[in-house]
Amino acid sequence: MDCIFCQIVAGAVPSKKAYEDEQIYAFADIDPRAPVHLLLVPKKHIPSLAQTTEADASLLGHLQATAARLAQEHGLDKGYRTVMNTGPEGGQTVSHLHLHLLGGRQMHWPPG
Ligand code: 5GP
Ligand code: ZN
Repeated sequence: MDCIFCQIVAGAVPSKKAYEDEQIYAFADIDPRAPVHLLLVPKKHIPSLAQTTEADASLLGHLQATAARLAQEHGLDKGYRTVMNTGPEGGQTVSHLHLHLLGGRQMHWPPG
């Protein structure tokens, strides 16, 4: 198993846990780009959004709904951003699907 996020889910690589259930795991990004920067990942290895199908719709919805709840728990009442980078041109650097939750500062548009 050479996937860093699979190793984090398995507990083989330490992480600062924010939330966990049967399907997903959420933890602090090691290189935070905002005062709150969490990553939410499915426990099963899916390389990216490009490999998902309609069969993954409830898992993907669960990731977003959990991000909304974690944002509330972290006091992001003025707003926040969820981002899923996909593939090289999407800026994805870790090939295990993940949803970024960023907040605690003003976000800008368009992203880089
Ligand atoms: P991507 O660029 O693929 O959208 O996001 C990957 C994210 O994973 C980056 O924000 C990076 O800081 C984070 N990351 C990479 N390796 C680790 C790690 O070992 N632990 C944690 N907590 N985050 C990591
Ligand atoms: Zn993985």
